[in-house]
Amino acid sequence: MTVLDALLYARDHIDHSIAIRFSCRQASCGSCGVKINGRPRLACYTQVNELGSDRVVVKPMDNFEIIKDLVTDLGTFFDKHKEMVPHLVRSDATEQDHPTGEYLMKPDELEEILQFTYCIKCGICTSSCPTVATDSKYPGPQALTQAYRYTADERDEGGDQRIPTLDTVHGVWRCHFAGSCSAYCPKGVDPALGIQLLKRYVLEGKGPRGPGEGAKVSERPRGSSKP
Ligand code: SF4
Repeated sequence: MTVLDALLYARDHIDHSIAIRFSCRQASCGSCGVKINGRPRLACYTQVNELGSDRVVVKPMDNFEIIKDLVTDLGTFFDKHKEMVPHLVRSDATEQDHPTGEYLMKPDELEEILQFTYCIKCGICTSSCPTVATDSKYPGPQALTQAYRYTADERDEGGDQRIPTLDTVHGVWRCHFAGSCSAYCPKGVDPALGIQLLKRYVLEGKGPRGPGEGAKVSERPRGSSKP
């Protein structure tokens, strides 16, 4: 039995008013982040018997406004995510409108960003961050990690839209490398590492990538099975 199963049992048989957000039940959607026996976790990804306790205490995540019971308001969290321009930016407009092939990546280029693509935006890292707790303007580990994920992507040319907004007193320098984000992430992402790598981009000025310096379009037509 997972903690989510237990909560739904309690809601069905003991107190119909219990509010909890959930969807996939398989640690894919990131909806059921809560604090279980003092640690932020996904309720669907936590077995009751692995807690080693007769008493399971479930509370809403820290660092978020509470809507009701265990349901927290993720609105600001997603706003900060969107401020990082979390998508690939390209300047080759003609290719975008009339694609002729695929943007190729080398395996080592993919390796540089792969773990950061596993983020399910559950908010657990943000709920555990001591800087988020004291600075409401700080983007938080999830948003900063996604800024790194897209800026480091060889196919992207949008670093100049992200990096300048992070080189501020409330930006990337507010991270003091406490590391709790990485300790609690249920998907094995290391946001603390992503933020440190992002600092290197800001310091070395490698964020803005000039037009045409990103990944090149392959000559192979999109959808072709030929190598
Ligand atoms: S980095 Fe990990 S803890 Fe943070 S939002 Fe993404 S999946 Fe959740």
